[in-house]
Amino acid sequence: MSLNHVRPWRDIYRRKSRQIMVGNVPVGGDAPIAVQTMTNTLTTDVAATVAQVQAAAEAGADIVRVSVPDEASSEALKEIVRESPVPIVADIHFHYRRGIEAAEAGAACLRINPGNIGDEARVKEVIKAARDHNCSIRIGVNAGSLEKHLLEKYGEPCPEAMVESGLEHIRILQDNDFHEFKISVKASDVFLSAAAYQGIAEATDAPIHLGITEAGGLVSGTIKSAIGLGNLLWMGIGDTIRVSLSADPVEEVKVGFEILKSLGLRHRGVNIISCPSCARQGFDVIKTVETLERRLEHIKTPMSLSIIGCVVNGPGEALMTDVGFTGGGAGSGMVYLAGKASHKMSNEQMIDHIVEQVENKAAELDAAAEAAE
Ligand code: SF4
Repeated sequence: MSLNHVRPWRDIYRRKSRQIMVGNVPVGGDAPIAVQTMTNTLTTDVAATVAQVQAAAEAGADIVRVSVPDEASSEALKEIVRESPVPIVADIHFHYRRGIEAAEAGAACLRINPGNIGDEARVKEVIKAARDHNCSIRIGVNAGSLEKHLLEKYGEPCPEAMVESGLEHIRILQDNDFHEFKISVKASDVFLSAAAYQGIAEATDAPIHLGITEAGGLVSGTIKSAIGLGNLLWMGIGDTIRVSLSADPVEEVKVGFEILKSLGLRHRGVNIISCPSCARQGFDVIKTVETLERRLEHIKTPMSLSIIGCVVNGPGEALMTDVGFTGGGAGSGMVYLAGKASHKMSNEQMIDHIVEQVENKAAELDAAAEAAE
């Protein structure tokens, strides 16, 4: 049972949204919050793009977005969709033809702003292509590219302008009887994003795609995203997330999952609880955790592992984890299984031993889950 149900102070009440499908992935309603990323290869380089999509999917991405800036990219998209293990979202800006081509190429969703792709006839054509090919749409409002009339009305990008922009695009889809859409209102500023998302969350029941755009590099972007997305998710807002980092898409997926894991909203892989280490440590905590993170990447079963330098916090943390190790004296430490002290292990053999214990526990949890189905 999730800790969030045992302890009410951990409960998050998700905003009630409609559910749509992005390919075979449900987004919204009570579906798990989907993690997305975006490729940064040339879409026309099919092999490189497919490799990046596969790496992202292996890291846990539920959905991957690919830019479709020209006709050659639309052509490449067909093969990318065919090879991808996860639904592909086509990122379209302004070119209505690209939208139609992407829907025809098998994209599961178009990221397109219907108000920015030309006259009514063109909009209708794109919506028809999306409908004909079971393609949903993501309206992607961005503070950096707000419509001129809204900038004139509000003077600068502000939450009200972003919400109004979103509602204008929504209206176009609804007027065309198209309801398979989700929406994002991104900004690179955490305050602006958070306020815009709160506004749009109140104004529509469409599923919400969360993101802090152009968040920055791995460390700064992770922190910005954790604050911005973390606060919104904690409020119950958000049905799918994308962390935007100037980094490998796999890192975006990892950070996305870590944010969701921190809030108990999704669970995947080993959640390592480790101390920062200090002079009391009985073994090299930092090096050990680095090695274990790498050696345990293949575990997808949600479980917890505590790696603690000494008995000050070790036994207490181990109480709450599936597997634990606490440093002791004389070159060895205590292994904990299911919260209880189990046996001693030397520091030298500890990494291989912990990996084995985690693999065994994961197999046991998988078998139990299978039996319960
Ligand atoms: S658990 Fe022990 S080793 Fe780790 S930081 Fe605390 S006192 Fe230091």
